[in-house]
Amino acid sequence: MSKLLLAPRQNCPSCDHHSGEQGGIGFIAPWLLKLSGLKVENRIQNLNICTECGTGWFSFAYPDVILSSLYSDYRGKKYFNIRNHWDWSYSQELNNGLTSSKSWMNWRKSCVETLLESVNFSNHEIRTCVDIGGGEGGVIPDFPNAEKYVVDSNKNLRLPPDITQLTEIEDMRKIMPDLVMCCGLLEHLNEPSNFLQQLVAHSGVNSIFYFEVPFGVPKVRSTLLISNSILSLLASNNFAWNFALKLDKKIKKYSHWNLLPLKISEHINFFTERGLKKLVESVDLEVLGIKIFHTNFALPDSVNVGFEYGIQVIAKQSGKTKK
Ligand SMILES: [Zn+2]
Repeated sequence: MSKLLLAPRQNCPSCDHHSGEQGGIGFIAPWLLKLSGLKVENRIQNLNICTECGTGWFSFAYPDVILSSLYSDYRGKKYFNIRNHWDWSYSQELNNGLTSSKSWMNWRKSCVETLLESVNFSNHEIRTCVDIGGGEGGVIPDFPNAEKYVVDSNKNLRLPPDITQLTEIEDMRKIMPDLVMCCGLLEHLNEPSNFLQQLVAHSGVNSIFYFEVPFGVPKVRSTLLISNSILSLLASNNFAWNFALKLDKKIKKYSHWNLLPLKISEHINFFTERGLKKLVESVDLEVLGIKIFHTNFALPDSVNVGFEYGIQVIAKQSGKTKK
């Protein structure tokens, strides 16, 4: 089977600026390719840092076949089995915690409510709320008067009775939401700006938007192994790869070195406050409030989401363009 050459992404996904500094090297994690059955030529990719807004991005676009295999049953049984096979530290507890930990979900709901309040938006004003890519709707706050929806293509969701699933963004036109939520999604997308444009186009003129992404660009230390052939050899056997992951952690703990480059998984964009603001404003949304928040303390110690801080933004249409 011939290997696919991934298409490059040259410009900053937040502000479309054309020049980025080299921020480090990444290697596409084996479990991600095993999930789609795809073999890829250029698994080593640069992490670019935008000189204009500070956003970081990996220099390739995921092809549709990888995206659909990844998100058709995200964090479902097949996803978990393959990921755990290639990374023993990715436990069932971590997988479940990310989707259904009560304390984590309750805390994330309170984050949405707090930011809404900070821009003088009352919970009672929300009559229709939709969470894009929202899974089972766990992050939608308990708005007392709201009809709740998720837009999600996953067919295996078990939704609570008060939440309705829509499968296409276009379906939002039927409900004209007061609040459009989009949490933990923009960092996964090849073209987040195009996606936001669609979101705005299918919302109401008075819709309020809530976005949440992990905060910050990963810091890359010096990497001992950057040869494609050696990395590919390690990544061809799950025992060898798990051994390399363990050794990588040990070396990192006791020195200024890493054995392996960054492991590229779902996240291909990394936002700063300025970068996220630029992205939101690029689709003629006006930022009403923006906040950096601590992510991990609501989870049990054994469950770590992998990033410590997130950024939340509340925005509305600026009225600069006519629909
Ligand atoms: Zn930029």
